Amino acid sequence: MIGTVYKSTGSWYTVKNENGEFFECRIKGKFRIKGIKSTNPIAVGDEVAFEIEQLGDDVVGVIHEIKDRSNYIIRKSVNLSKLTHIIAANLDQVFLLVTLNNPTTYTIFIDRFLATAEAYEVPVILLFNKIDTYSIEELAEVKYLAELYRGVGYTCIGISAKTGKNVDKVKEYMMGATSMFSGHSGAGKSTLINAIEPKLELKTAEISEQHLQGQHTTTFAEMYDLNFGGRIIDTPGIKGFGIVDMEKDEIGDYFPEFFALKGNCKFNNCLHLDEPKCAVKEALENEEVSWSRYRSYVQMVTGEEETYRIDNYDN
Ligand code: GDP
Ligand code: ZN
Repeated sequence: MIGTVYKSTGSWYTVKNENGEFFECRIKGKFRIKGIKSTNPIAVGDEVAFEIEQLGDDVVGVIHEIKDRSNYIIRKSVNLSKLTHIIAANLDQVFLLVTLNNPTTYTIFIDRFLATAEAYEVPVILLFNKIDTYSIEELAEVKYLAELYRGVGYTCIGISAKTGKNVDKVKEYMMGATSMFSGHSGAGKSTLINAIEPKLELKTAEISEQHLQGQHTTTFAEMYDLNFGGRIIDTPGIKGFGIVDMEKDEIGDYFPEFFALKGNCKFNNCLHLDEPKCAVKEALENEEVSWSRYRSYVQMVTGEEETYRIDNYDN
């Protein structure tokens, strides 16, 4: 049988088959995924092949194959920095909730998130939330940011999770897809999920509190079906999107507007900093690349973003 992993505890996997039936499964044999050493071989969202076995009165599934992933997101294990934990696989999109204040979402946070998502090959949709609370100036700022990020190629939607404004647009994107929500704590993830599907009780809040108390218990992501078709992956207690170790010279590849200029710089290992005849800096001067994106890029390359308090992000 073929199925999708909806939940895992580390040793047991809850798998839904193509008829919508759930099975508790174990893994048979060792799974080694090319290129990653992870604490968990299979993650939520994985597509697997499994067989049914009778175990006394119980029916259990045995997973013997994992299908190729379209993408996956990871996080470094807290104690064993060499090992990674696969949070989820086969995501169609991540919605990043952005708020101008309460809490403030800085562009370095957005840009870091977007670059990480590019590295993971996960599409991001930006949701500018709490538009019901903004002044005319703030709405102009949202418009400016939305245009900036649309220009780079990202879908942007202004919403209010509270009043329901444009929530139907978010639902349209979610239909038939596997989605995840991200953004600072307080940006409105729970409120939005509640507006999308009121009956869905996710554990996000409850478990992050534990996390704040410093209990580094491993928590696992869990996937839920939505009534209108589509799935949502909840990642209780998982901080952020997981930072990928990016080499300095690959960061530019994850800024699509910089990547488009690849090969145009004088030096092909150009970091777009102080090198002569740099196509990115020329584009910057011609206002084809935005200063705020460039500034974030420089911060990521030089590591100076550590001084910004926005690094303290939550999922
Ligand atoms: P989370 O930490 O990302 O899950 O954020 P919550 O959903 O708990 O929202 C944090 C606070 O912001 C709550 O008091 C919400 O009522 C409020 N909030 C969320 N979305 C909106 C919105 O669109 N407009 C307004 N005015 N408040 C919102
Ligand atoms: Zn350059």
